[in-house]
Amino acid sequence: MAAPPMSTSKEEIIIGIDLGTTNSLVGVVESGFPIILADENGDRIQPSAVAFRPGEDPVVGKPALRARELAPESTITSVKRFMGRSFSQLTAEDHEDGSFSLQATESDQIGIQIDPTTQATVSPELVSSEILKHLKQIAENALEQEVNRAVVTVPAYFNNSQREATKRAAEMAGLVVERILNEPTAAALAYGLDKLDENQVIAVYDFGGGTFDLSVLQLKEGIFEVVATAGDTRLGGDDIDSAIAQWAADQWNLGELNPEESSRLLSEARKAKEALSEAEATDLRLPFFRDGESYEIEITRDSFHRLLLPLIERTRLICQRAFAEAENKGVPTVQHLILVGGSTRIPLVREKLKEWFGLEPNLSQHPDEAVGLGAAIQAGMLCGRVRSVILVDVTPLSLGIETFGGLMNVIIPRNSTIPAKAGELFTNAVAQQDAMAIRVLQGEREMAKDNWLLGEISVPFTPGPKGSARVGVQFAINENGILEVLARDTETGEDHLLAIENSAVDVDDEEVEKMIGESIDYAFEDMNERVWTEARFKSEELLPAVSDALQQVGDTLPEEDREAIEAAAEAVRKLLESPEKDAQALKEANRMLDQQTETLAALVIEAAFGDLS
Ligand code: ADP
Ligand code: MG
Repeated sequence: MAAPPMSTSKEEIIIGIDLGTTNSLVGVVESGFPIILADENGDRIQPSAVAFRPGEDPVVGKPALRARELAPESTITSVKRFMGRSFSQLTAEDHEDGSFSLQATESDQIGIQIDPTTQATVSPELVSSEILKHLKQIAENALEQEVNRAVVTVPAYFNNSQREATKRAAEMAGLVVERILNEPTAAALAYGLDKLDENQVIAVYDFGGGTFDLSVLQLKEGIFEVVATAGDTRLGGDDIDSAIAQWAADQWNLGELNPEESSRLLSEARKAKEALSEAEATDLRLPFFRDGESYEIEITRDSFHRLLLPLIERTRLICQRAFAEAENKGVPTVQHLILVGGSTRIPLVREKLKEWFGLEPNLSQHPDEAVGLGAAIQAGMLCGRVRSVILVDVTPLSLGIETFGGLMNVIIPRNSTIPAKAGELFTNAVAQQDAMAIRVLQGEREMAKDNWLLGEISVPFTPGPKGSARVGVQFAINENGILEVLARDTETGEDHLLAIENSAVDVDDEEVEKMIGESIDYAFEDMNERVWTEARFKSEELLPAVSDALQQVGDTLPEEDREAIEAAAEAVRKLLESPEKDAQALKEANRMLDQQTETLAALVIEAAFGDLS
């Protein structure tokens, strides 16, 4: 197979690297957008595993994990734990970590044994450099050009020696480190939080494969300052796998497991865990596991949650510690929460965070790609691919999508400089809807029908009650004027893409003037339409809710209250039917009805709790 021609004549590119304990990623900014690069198999996430073989080049990633089954003593995983530390600092747990053994060098450095027969050792930096070489190669293949510069992320708590070791590893891989970036900062960049107002406070909850980190960041003059960190370097997805494996071994009365059995069971447990993020139940299957006998058992979400809860409870205490530290420094309370790391894909983690801290996590990015994306963004800024794009072009007209009741919901306003990117979360307006139509519009009018339709995509999702679906819609216009619409079902992470060439930016001047002129001419009517539509929606929600509640608990109300509610409902109904479409009057009538039904709502809640007790 012929290799693509290499050249250094193209602009000097900088790549962004998330060098993780369990997984690593490489990304870059292309045409104004950060992307994660895939290897030749289409994989974007590379296991941070290196298998050494005598007389051959080491293998990295998925093949290394496969090699581990055959040669566990020469396959190195989680090497990040050893970076920049001395041998005498290691704990008993560190020694138990892998299937390989650790030795001290003369200068108290760590030597990782890669060959039990020759007892040859390598440094943690060298193992890391193999991972970095692999990532560099993926980037070079994908970009068809040589790559020599990188931004590499490290945990916020890494000390100087750990950062220096990371830098040395990159140099050994032939990469000049342009910047060492904190992982939570990278994640915040990926979520676009650098555009927030000054002094905003962000919590980054990073639950990965082997570690948990909570960082509190505060935005100051466009730069994220790490104001508090807390974590547990021995708490992650691996512990969840172990808990499941232990549970299964107990159910099967397996007793002691040999190393091979243990590794097979753990990888089956991990598969089951990841499946349970989507499914309500799944099977663990181990064909011909012991003495030719096969084992199989079903695990439900309920039993999974019992195993999981104590582990996630531990993250709660760590969060509280970091929040308290931030508070002691006079930092305001946390306003934004972002989730990072593969283990935050577990729905119970998200639920508990909401319950504990009342914070709704931002789910617009894939949690295991956020750090890599942020590294790519930082790299793009450094090589001028992000910031120095000449910002002469602006969007001539607003871009948005149609929402409930045929309204225009603007996502990128008129006159935004391009490249531009913005997004919003939408939900289903009707129960049991099985798809959401995303109609992409351009124009300045309040009602969708008066704007121009640029394109349409349909996002299917699992039917559920009203407001249960979560579809993130992101608009991105690159400097070539191509509008890319991405709709993501945040439940499944499934993406739907639509590219609209040129029409987003390239619009005839006369047409633009006409559209703007009309939007001014019709401003009053348009505004009234919008207010009316919104009020009508509110009424259509209120009326059935009120009549349901009256049926349920109306009898317990005093006669005059009941009559007042019915009169208020009737007033709303009358206005809805009136051809005059008096938006303000309808709004007021809704408000009155809302007020009248306060006691009613309380009674319904009481009745519901009564049922429970
Ligand atoms: P790190 O940053 O520690 O290198 P990641 O952020 O990639 O690692 O997280 C890896 C962990 O995420 C693993 O334990 C993996 O099993 C877990 N994980 C990945 N996908 C899922 C999922 N869908 N549900 C639950 N856990 C997952
Ligand atoms: Mg990570």
